[in-house]
Amino acid sequence: MRVQLLCPPPSLEGAWIRPRHAPHHAAIVAAALRDAGHSVHLIDEALKTTHLRDVQGDCARDACDVVLVMQGDYNRAIQPVVLDTVIRGLLAAAPDTPLFGVSRLREDTARGAMEALPSLPGMVFGEPEFSAVALLDALAKGDLSGVGGLALRTEAGITTTPPPAVDLDDSPVPAWDLLDLADYGFRPHQGPEDVTWPVLASRGCPYSCFWCEVQGRPAWITRSPQAVVDEVIELHRRYGARTFFLADPLFGVKRAWVIDFCGRLRDASLDIQWSCMTRTDHCDRELMQTMADAGCINVLFGVESLNPYALERAGKSLDPDTVEPAVKAAQAAGLEAVVSVMIGLPGDTPGGVERTIDGVIAMEPDYAQFFVVQVPPAAKHPDGRLVGGWEGGRFDFPGHAFAPEAFGPEAQLRRLQRRAYRRFYLRPSFIGRKAGRIWKRGDARVEAKRLARGARLAVSMALGRQPSR
Ligand code: SF4
Repeated sequence: MRVQLLCPPPSLEGAWIRPRHAPHHAAIVAAALRDAGHSVHLIDEALKTTHLRDVQGDCARDACDVVLVMQGDYNRAIQPVVLDTVIRGLLAAAPDTPLFGVSRLREDTARGAMEALPSLPGMVFGEPEFSAVALLDALAKGDLSGVGGLALRTEAGITTTPPPAVDLDDSPVPAWDLLDLADYGFRPHQGPEDVTWPVLASRGCPYSCFWCEVQGRPAWITRSPQAVVDEVIELHRRYGARTFFLADPLFGVKRAWVIDFCGRLRDASLDIQWSCMTRTDHCDRELMQTMADAGCINVLFGVESLNPYALERAGKSLDPDTVEPAVKAAQAAGLEAVVSVMIGLPGDTPGGVERTIDGVIAMEPDYAQFFVVQVPPAAKHPDGRLVGGWEGGRFDFPGHAFAPEAFGPEAQLRRLQRRAYRRFYLRPSFIGRKAGRIWKRGDARVEAKRLARGARLAVSMALGRQPSR
């Protein structure tokens, strides 16, 4: 079948904003459909437009047998009203072409998504590449009754079938040839000169921090170390990929898995480097050294706060005393340590946030990032309220800003965020250290370019502007 696989824009109004993450799940779904013999046209409208007529035009240009619309993707949540408008527009433009949503959701959250999208006729969910292949097989046969992980709108209401149990090792290498990874956002701590290739070793997370986008998704599921190494080798072979981002929301849940993975990666003897995101209570010096020996150059620690009460109220279950040892262990192993902070956790206060910023600066990580907590409307918490409108494309955490009880309007949170960036990045000691590093690194030109791009990003965020590439 000819498949139009569409990633909708996060917004249909306001200025266009470059997405920071490629639509990873869409690329996996596209690869699975191609492997099953279908032809796939993948369009990431988030890269192109905020206008419905452009989306309709793109769809109309290519004749297809079925339209699949991503309901969300890796670090991409789309406001239901935007998504519903897009779906309505596509159905109006091609009323005879079957249209289904696609998303990595559980059965209950898929039902909720169908309820929030009254124009959507049906949706595949679960681990979506498997459900999508089953859907297309069933469409070809004209009988949808055996498809697992399918929600359908019928006259009697919404029906759902449980998604099948799957082995992620059967999941294909994403169809990155259908997208240009160079088009996506840049992060100072992850991007040397070349393109960064995302790889998912697992999906989901066993923890349940209340703001996190993994909420509402299927349970944590992992691939085998060899399957992940095979994907890295394949991307290196196919595209000459050198720099990888292990994009798991939480890389390294199991220590033995990481050690096994690193051993296999080392044995592959590739000239590559990689980064990942993890928790400080999952790290020690030996593990950091094992990762460094396997090509890891950068670890982002999801710390969020050094206020134990706020961490507890947010469901983070992290001991703040683990943060500094982990940062030091990473740096001792030669890795760059990045600390990620959330401003506005339930139970936090303006003073608590300032103390977290003080503490992070004192630890001297290589980089830090500061986000205002943003959550979809369903993620309510008794210790605060949603403030402001839905921010879609601008941040890694789409949704409404969340203000804990001790905070006033959203502007107060944004002010603290800008102040955090200014305090961390515009310190003479930080700038001096980074400048000194240029001359210590083997390739001073590459390092200087990286630093210049990072500085531009940090300054624009300190000023509260949307960073450009
Ligand atoms: S530990 Fe990280 S990935 Fe897991 S739920 Fe919390 S914020 Fe999300």
